[in-house]
Amino acid sequence: MILLDGKKTANDIKEEIAIEVVNLLSDGGKKPHLAAILVGNDGASETYVNAKVKACEKVGFDSTLVRFNIDVSEDKLLAEIEKINRNSSIDGLIVQLPLPKHINEMKVTEAILPEKDVDGFHPANIGRMALNLPTYLPATPAGILELLQRYEVETLGKHCVVIGRSHIVGSPMSILMARNNYPGNCTVTLTHSRTKNLNEITKTADILIVALGKAEFVTTDMVKQGVTIIDVGITRVKSDKTKSGWKLLGDVDFEDVKNKCSYITPVPGGVGPMTIAILLKNTLLSAKRVIY
Ligand code: NAD
Repeated sequence: MILLDGKKTANDIKEEIAIEVVNLLSDGGKKPHLAAILVGNDGASETYVNAKVKACEKVGFDSTLVRFNIDVSEDKLLAEIEKINRNSSIDGLIVQLPLPKHINEMKVTEAILPEKDVDGFHPANIGRMALNLPTYLPATPAGILELLQRYEVETLGKHCVVIGRSHIVGSPMSILMARNNYPGNCTVTLTHSRTKNLNEITKTADILIVALGKAEFVTTDMVKQGVTIIDVGITRVKSDKTKSGWKLLGDVDFEDVKNKCSYITPVPGGVGPMTIAILLKNTLLSAKRVIY
């Protein structure tokens, strides 16, 4: 079994980006600049945004964090997005999800200029992805592609089973793994909560990508010998063994399945760090005007 080490790979990518920033500056360019909007003070969202801001510092980007109270109006949020859209010194804008119920997430996503949508969630960018045109790929699926590529995992002609059909992970992942490029060229089965006989399907997977948000859902009886498993899930559970009082669990029972795997991502230290590295990569692409 080979561990797909997302923490190490993400650090490699960050080092590569930091070198590019130095080169940009020495060529007379400016620092890439990422803006993030956080609404409310949900613990997990706060952790993710802080990690993104810290990652910007690490690679030499500028960052701006705009915070709103949980009861901010949709109009006020949209006005801030418009202001950042017009600010030519800002290359990328992300709005941390989920948003409170009174705010329409799709309206907010669509308000971000596609040119600054470094999360890759705007319908225009999703469409470009589906057509295999240059775009900002959604960070989590793109991070998974990068891991497969850097570990040279064979994908051509393989059966890739994706569990979960969310707009940010499962659905784009299924499109990307079926593309006519490496990593891709898979025969893809997208499964979800209404799928019948899930175990029969997962047992035929050469590559299993799991993103359903249920801790330790995938067990050894669901997979075949030699499978590659990508575990996207993050569930915070209470723990008396950690200083914080919390620990993170994936959607895969790692200890149960690991001996059957050719490759597997751990949680934490697998897909999570890759997501942030790709966000930085997309922001750099925006600063260099590579896509638009
Ligand atoms: P979501 O919560 O929006 O959707 C879950 C999906 O799983 C749905 O499509 C549903 O149909 C499917 N599902 C639910 N129960 C199922 C079952 N029993 N069998 C088959 N399918 C089932 O999903 P999401 O936003 O993609 O998040 C999934 C997990 O990934 C969560 O734990 C989330 O925290 C994590 N996540 C991690 C990262 C990262 O950077 N590592 C990024 C995004 C999401």
